[in-house]
Amino acid sequence: MSSEILFQAKRNELVTLLQKKGIYDAALLKALATVPRHLFFTDSSLQQFAYEDKAYPIDAKQTISQPYTVALQTQLLELKPAEKVLEIGTGSGYQAAILRAMGARVHTIERQKKLFFKTKDLLQSLGISVDTLLGDGFKGFQPFAPYDKIIITAAAPYIPRTLLDQLKVGGIMVAPLGEDKTQVLMQIKKLSETEFEQRDFGLCSFVPMLSGIE
Ligand code: SAH
Repeated sequence: MSSEILFQAKRNELVTLLQKKGIYDAALLKALATVPRHLFFTDSSLQQFAYEDKAYPIDAKQTISQPYTVALQTQLLELKPAEKVLEIGTGSGYQAAILRAMGARVHTIERQKKLFFKTKDLLQSLGISVDTLLGDGFKGFQPFAPYDKIIITAAAPYIPRTLLDQLKVGGIMVAPLGEDKTQVLMQIKKLSETEFEQRDFGLCSFVPMLSGIE
């Protein structure tokens, strides 16, 4: 069996598992079945594990999130086609690729230069058209604001007011909140310029959101 066929079979199994865990968004399931997660692994010896439902180390002491976490965060965004999404924490680029595969217009920010350039090149070589930005996610990215949806993929010590300001009224932000090893996954709906509704969706574990560029 060629490795591509094998990877596709493993991807389908992963999608079935994620469905059992409560992922039902049809466009998301299609994206998960399509995006080649193994290509987002910098350590090729780990590629064989790419369709396990686990987080793995990538460059610069960062991780590629667990597929279930990516799926749950994405589902909580309640994406509609062609929405404008801001992602904080590009990392491997896998989450951005999933959002793009669902038809979103994606702007993604990474604070670590080395990882930023590597992932930018990877996304480009895979023909995944997302806007990659080197910067500090605490500041968001005003030139393209407001966003329909904002997803933070690093543990936020607090919800940055600047990011809530860059969210459209009616928009949704999904973020892991907390400074401990595990955080609470929050979904925040912006009801008006001053009113927000928040719900939590259990524990998750992300590397910390840090300020400044490195
Ligand atoms: N979404 C990623 C997983 C991200 S891991 C993926 O799909 O692989 C978290 C990433 O957030 C790391 O790469 C880390 O460097 C980055 N990060 C942490 N704080 C940040 C900040 N303030 N602004 C932008 N990126 C940040």
